[in-house]
Amino acid sequence: MTFLECTRCGEQFSPERPNTVCPIDGGVLYARYNLSSIKKTFSRDALAQRAANMWRYAEVLPDAEPVTLGEGFTPLLSSRETRNVFIKDEGLNPTGSFKARGLSAAVSMAKRYKLEKLAIPSAGNAASALAAYAAAAHIEAHIFMPKDVPLANRIECDMYGAHVTLVDGLISDCARIVQERGKSAGWFDVSTLKEPFRVEGKKTLGYEVAEQLGWKLPDGIIYPTGGGVGLIGMWKAFDELEQLGWIGPERPHMIAVQSAGCAPISKAWDEGKDVSETWAKASTIAAGLRVPKAYGDYLILNILKKSGGVALSVTDSEILDAVRYWARVEGIFAAPEGAASLAAYRKLRDGGFFAPTDVVVLFNTGTGLKYLDVVGAGPSPTMKRPPARQIGGIIGPY
Ligand SMILES: [Zn+2]
Repeated sequence: MTFLECTRCGEQFSPERPNTVCPIDGGVLYARYNLSSIKKTFSRDALAQRAANMWRYAEVLPDAEPVTLGEGFTPLLSSRETRNVFIKDEGLNPTGSFKARGLSAAVSMAKRYKLEKLAIPSAGNAASALAAYAAAAHIEAHIFMPKDVPLANRIECDMYGAHVTLVDGLISDCARIVQERGKSAGWFDVSTLKEPFRVEGKKTLGYEVAEQLGWKLPDGIIYPTGGGVGLIGMWKAFDELEQLGWIGPERPHMIAVQSAGCAPISKAWDEGKDVSETWAKASTIAAGLRVPKAYGDYLILNILKKSGGVALSVTDSEILDAVRYWARVEGIFAAPEGAASLAAYRKLRDGGFFAPTDVVVLFNTGTGLKYLDVVGAGPSPTMKRPPARQIGGIIGPY
């Protein structure tokens, strides 16, 4: 890692001390590496000997002793129904979601910087992941999440010994609290894209998809988008992979799927805007998609445009139908956020965006086991009914 670079103004910063966002314009900072030098000693063949976790790509990850629980290198499963469709099953990560990758990287660097207290606003799974990695690193975790997050997230954070505050509001309200109290409390804020290393962990999704498909990128990638770090990270990974000479200039169509109850990126895309507006009254059973405004919205929308992709939204009942369908047909019990990618794929196939033969990777971002209180409510054997318990905003009854 040579320097950190602002994605807005291009200003460079030293990674030798903790950084947040660009002090000039608030831009997200990207870690940059000397890839032409790394290229001489790091080859695709070298990977065969390495452990099956995300740190197999150590040369292009932050320079820190990894705080690892075995995250990454999750299966890329060919769909039983459509062989050229693949499901990247992130539910098999530590703490049951893709958030493990970003927090492993961020906590590893926090340990290197000797930070003692980390804080995070979270819609649910990032909280669990921070709590676990902070426990492993013997660092304090201060967690702020909506009071109606899935029960598993709350129990996990408690078990891992984190300091948890439940907030009567959304992740944006939690973020405000972290910002207001952070300085006096001595917390380092590991919010999505407000420090440079979660995106580095998440970018390993891109390295893995490339490696698992034999270094040929798919035609499309469908990514459930709340904060959008994985989508941003994968796009960064593809550029690095090309600079390493491991892939060519071809890129997949990048698809952002959101819930109709909180679809700021999809709305901005439809309106041809470069940034999104805050989504009012966000409400969806897919807790991780309940992000009223993503900090990296300008990056996400730019990637969609450059890749010839699209943003779209799906309803909660389409999501629940997809959860059940994947479980029955593929044997994968997906998180609602993850199942949204199947709902999106169906729409894009029906609409002719994807041909039946296109190779498409669908991201299941987490395991459905963390959402039993959300998807399992009610006695009905079919998910065609509206959800009995709507988690969202201030609606959730307790
Ligand atoms: Zn800047």
